[in-house]
Amino acid sequence: VNLISPKWIVTCDDSFNIFEDYSIVFDENIIDIDLYSKILEKYPDAKTIEVSNSSILMPGLINTHIHLEFSANKTSLKYGDFILWLNSVIKNRDHLVEKATKELSDLIKNGTTTIGAISSYGYELDSCANSPMNVIFFNEVIGSKPDMIDTLFADFKARVKNSKAHESDNFKSAVAIHSPYSVHPFLIREVLKIADQNQMPVTAHFLESDQEREWLDSSKGAFEEFFKNFLNQTSSLTTPEEFIKQFQNSTNLSFTHCVEVDKNHLKMIDDCGASVIHCPNSNRLLSKKTLNIESLDELDNINLAIGTDGLSSNYSLNLFDELKSALFMHTSIEPNTLSQKLLYSATKGGAKALGVSNRGSIEKNKIADMILFDLDVESKDDIALHTILHEKNITHTFIRGKNELH
Ligand SMILES: [Zn+2]
Repeated sequence: VNLISPKWIVTCDDSFNIFEDYSIVFDENIIDIDLYSKILEKYPDAKTIEVSNSSILMPGLINTHIHLEFSANKTSLKYGDFILWLNSVIKNRDHLVEKATKELSDLIKNGTTTIGAISSYGYELDSCANSPMNVIFFNEVIGSKPDMIDTLFADFKARVKNSKAHESDNFKSAVAIHSPYSVHPFLIREVLKIADQNQMPVTAHFLESDQEREWLDSSKGAFEEFFKNFLNQTSSLTTPEEFIKQFQNSTNLSFTHCVEVDKNHLKMIDDCGASVIHCPNSNRLLSKKTLNIESLDELDNINLAIGTDGLSSNYSLNLFDELKSALFMHTSIEPNTLSQKLLYSATKGGAKALGVSNRGSIEKNKIADMILFDLDVESKDDIALHTILHEKNITHTFIRGKNELH
């Protein structure tokens, strides 16, 4: 077994416990956390991993929403307006999906140990399955034309089958519904049947822009012309409420973005036991609003998780960059309080959203997904904030107890 004695252990457990001058013993799993003297007594043969006396150990980050297929192109997309952006994505799509997954090893260097990968085509499947990264692989379905449903459903099933064949301790297949406006309700129903029968995690983009909300509520606004031009469709096939209702039997359910939700939507999301995934940078570039984090707590503590989205709507896939943005965006929440909330959402909150409850925090018997970095902090009250502001140099990224940085 391995032994580490960092200055601080930030557990990211439900009480956000932080231990000073404690030691941790682990193999693939976390075996014990205690004072150094006690650990030495109990585990005299443990192999010590040397660390500096200003080091912080915390759980590996969980990026719950990332598109690796859209990694090739960073600068040819139009930002500032959702419809302009959507048109530019479609125009550049072939180029965008060419290269998929060189990001995985960078993600590990930056402290991410679990991702929720949204896959449109399955091009990144092998890279994900072969990476040490823990991957929840969301096979995404998209398409609203009735005459295409059979074809799209067959393609979806083939991708699910393929990803299921790659399942392992660190790779699990899952299901993504692209959005309420882009997937036919019949197709959603059939796809969710498969997800629910197999207890696969489910996710969907939801209310990302005011144009989406307007289209779903009243079949009006900027989407009107887009749907007419591209799909010859003149009215929305669902409302936000009808859409959420379709997920009543889903387990490990999450909705991404949710910047345009109202109280009723949140109540319904809460009733489904769903998590909300926040992608602050993507929302800053594509939407006119950010997520109202406080409204999640007002209702009934809806679980919050964090994602970077893809490089087609972000400049970085480093989750620490995302946390920094979130810290400066949500100005109504006191910064230390917000920082703790954000670190929790990027670890244990993420684990809840993706249905990997054996990861995401430093607690006995959990899988040893942990990161270590040097940061000189004097008081434990300041650790969360300074970690988000200053964390730069991760020295160890343990996934299942094995350091993947050498
Ligand atoms: Zn997305």
